Amino acid sequence: MDILSSTLNNAVNFNPATTIDSVVSSLQLLATVASIANVSWPENSPVKGLWPLATHSPYDWDFVSEVDDCTSHALHGKRTAHTRGKVLGGSSTINHSVVQRGSKLDFDEWVKAGHTNWNWESVLKYFKKAENMLDKKLVNGPTSKYHCDKGPFSVKPQSKNKLFVEKNGRLLKGYSELGMHILEDPFVPIPNGTGGLYLHIKDDKEQSRRASTAEEYLLPIKDKSNFHILKEAQVIKILTNHNKEAIGIFNNYFSDENDLERMIEAVKKIKELENVPEYSDVGGRFIRPPLPECDDLDYQSHSYWACYVKNMATTIFNPASTCAMGLVVDDNLKVKGMKKLRVVDDSVIPFLPRGTTTMITIMIAEKAADIIKKEHEVNKGLQCDPPLATTEIEQVNVARFLGLMVDAHGTWESHVDYASKKLNRFVFVLRKLTNIASEKTALLADHGHVEST
Ligand SMILES: Cc1cc2nc3c(=O)[nH]c(=O)nc-3n(C[C@H](O)[C@H](O)[C@H](O)COP(=O)(O)OP(=O)(O)OC[C@H]3O[C@@H](n4cnc5c(N)ncnc54)[C@H](O)[C@@H]3O)c2cc1C
Repeated sequence: MDILSSTLNNAVNFNPATTIDSVVSSLQLLATVASIANVSWPENSPVKGLWPLATHSPYDWDFVSEVDDCTSHALHGKRTAHTRGKVLGGSSTINHSVVQRGSKLDFDEWVKAGHTNWNWESVLKYFKKAENMLDKKLVNGPTSKYHCDKGPFSVKPQSKNKLFVEKNGRLLKGYSELGMHILEDPFVPIPNGTGGLYLHIKDDKEQSRRASTAEEYLLPIKDKSNFHILKEAQVIKILTNHNKEAIGIFNNYFSDENDLERMIEAVKKIKELENVPEYSDVGGRFIRPPLPECDDLDYQSHSYWACYVKNMATTIFNPASTCAMGLVVDDNLKVKGMKKLRVVDDSVIPFLPRGTTTMITIMIAEKAADIIKKEHEVNKGLQCDPPLATTEIEQVNVARFLGLMVDAHGTWESHVDYASKKLNRFVFVLRKLTNIASEKTALLADHGHVEST
């Protein structure tokens, strides 16, 4: 949402004289954030390396998984924390900051599933549009065609700290000795291999200052008259006929045998590092933790590794695809069967990608902004349709919550209530968060609960 509203808002400044922009300039943009009291701008971003402190903090929705048959049995209570940012910038404000784009192979799969508008060439355009690549080696190097240093989303190589460089170099050399390709640029279309990480870090001298979408996309537009941020507000209901059931989070990671087999292979591969001089010379070894469910099995047998994986595996917090394109939303991100409701967040990613999800979500939001602008151009006649009063056109808003965004060009459905006089441009029933804890039970474990009428 941060990205989308900023991109739409900035479009107003480009050329207000054009038809698209005169339509776009009639948009009112709303960000609702179920943040905690006093959550403000970037100073609330934890220092990057301290991200674990965000889990179970007031900045976290604090969801946990249900106990299932096949995952995380060695974890406390056999449950996985499903941390999710409850703060401006969402999870980007508290996440691990790793920047990845997935692979062209992911987007080939999107195309194969019929989402042809989301082919590699078209998504690359938006990855680049968003990017502020601070590594000039990449911007001016042989892979420069995949990069841009003019976007808002800053990307920097991880620390140059001497100790880190030495340890990381050893790790990469070890991987290389196992036959893995070391990538100079992890953003090439098919990044098959491994390499140094790139992080979402501010463009300043202090390596430890994280960036966030709040800082990069919302802060620059926060004082614009058609942009509204409602903090400490929790959307609890959207008045549509879009029904969604509240469910718990079941990881079920290894319910598919193929996933289990692939993870066992991965663990065995990593264990081979023990035999690589880079590791063995410094006493590096695979640690065997006590696992009551597995300890009676022959160590290193297939059944042991299967048990090990099921006990030890957890999440690295990149769930996606709960409102998948093709199933819940169409290629323009509109909820199927509805004209004026879009979802723009990581839940629309059709299949789990080969990488982390922030950058893909940002690409989706950038592209969504263009889709919306284009639709307004195509449908410009709508403004003149007799039933629509100008004031109602002006009440078009793009609001987002739980990953749900309404893009209404025209009047709202007749059954929709306006929230209040003060917020007369919003159609959602918003409730002040006076007691997050008691409200939380009403939330859907995924991104929140959507109560429908
Ligand atoms: C701990 C952690 C580490 C991660 N590490 C990485 C990483 O290293 N690299 C990477 O690429 N990705 C990472 N991710 C994933 C990445 O952060 C997400 O994919 C990305 O932020 C998704 O953006 P989003 O807009 O879909 O959701 P979010 O960023 O979660 O934003 C949702 C927003 O909606 C608000 N909201 C939710 N419900 C309501 C409601 N009812 N009312 C009002 N507001 C509401 C939330 O408070 C939040 O502000 C990580 C995530 C976590 C949690």
